[in-house]
Amino acid sequence: MLHVNAPRLLADLAALARIGATPEGGVSRPALSPADLEGRAWFRRQVEAAGLTFHQDGAGNVSAILPAADPVARTLLCGSHLDSVPDGGRFDGALGTLAALEALRTIREAGLALPVHLEAIAFTDEEGELVGLLGSQALAGQLTQAGLDHPRGGRDKLLAGLARAGLSEASLLAARRDPAALRAFVELHIEQGTRLIDAGLDLGVVTAIVGIRSVWLTFTGQAAHAGTTPLTRRKDALWGAAEFIGRARDMVAAQFDPGVVNCGILHAEPGAFNIVPGRVRLALEFRHGSEATLDAMQTDLLALAAEVAARFSLSLAVEEASRAIAAPLDSGVIAALEAAAGRLGLSHTRLMSFAGHDTQVMSRITPAAMAFVPSVGGLSHNPAEFTPDEAVIHAADVLLHTLLILAG
Ligand SMILES: [Zn+2]
Repeated sequence: MLHVNAPRLLADLAALARIGATPEGGVSRPALSPADLEGRAWFRRQVEAAGLTFHQDGAGNVSAILPAADPVARTLLCGSHLDSVPDGGRFDGALGTLAALEALRTIREAGLALPVHLEAIAFTDEEGELVGLLGSQALAGQLTQAGLDHPRGGRDKLLAGLARAGLSEASLLAARRDPAALRAFVELHIEQGTRLIDAGLDLGVVTAIVGIRSVWLTFTGQAAHAGTTPLTRRKDALWGAAEFIGRARDMVAAQFDPGVVNCGILHAEPGAFNIVPGRVRLALEFRHGSEATLDAMQTDLLALAAEVAARFSLSLAVEEASRAIAAPLDSGVIAALEAAAGRLGLSHTRLMSFAGHDTQVMSRITPAAMAFVPSVGGLSHNPAEFTPDEAVIHAADVLLHTLLILAG
């Protein structure tokens, strides 16, 4: 059975972790920062040293390519990202990128002739220092000039990063790839949670990346004297909001598992010790991997808000703030990941991703899925992020065999 070269993969992870290294043991390689560019230059040297073809597109996505004999063959993509959040960890993105590179090196050295081009790609700005999922959106043809005009990291930072990397908005918008030329996309990533570690499992096969809905709820009652107004006569907007928060948690846990709900902002007005709150604005967010379930969650959560408002004699206003569509992943790529894990005798389970990944963008243009590798303590976006060597190697072997299965 074919296996990756474990010492070489671990040495790569250690070498990359020295680029942008922080005193706490993590890395800081925000997208298109000098440290990120240094990481990409290092990646290029590894690609060329391995006898693979290096490619960089107009979005700054960097790739290692192992071409098929047939020049018009489709491309089987795998990979992740090299950028990190500021003061992030050594495994987020790096593990998936370097495992992909290692899988290509292993297949090349084994002299296997596959009917697809293999490409190990590192997407630009997955973490959102500039735009978020920037490289994958560009490749998928989902960037617009309007989207670039108001990037979440600010216009100046985007333009400075592009200039540093020799890229432009025009090159970003031109980086679209023809979906017909792609066979599939597979990503390995650390779990960033504790489900795998807690269950003692080797691998999590991701069936969907959750959709996220954000809604402002405004409860309006009547501001009043906090001493002289009898409790029975109050229209306290915060009583309604507080009851909603507790019951929303219980409802989602009981009816929508593994969905989650969060109330992240609460503004009570007028806001004083001695005034009954007359108005409360509450930021409600909920996540699930199925759009149909998200619809049901929205219906039930808003009905709960209306019921609570009526009970406390409040009015309720609802305003949708944002919506990210759930991305169900491809059953064929999921089956290939599970077959590869089975072939290697590794334990695995199916789960949803509650964080965003490039795979959700790629899933719109090609069959795509991803697998999670255990994260000790579930820590991520943290210098203490850690995945044991053995788990890294097992996951890279799964990726290797998944590529062989998908290549046919
Ligand atoms: Zn990541």
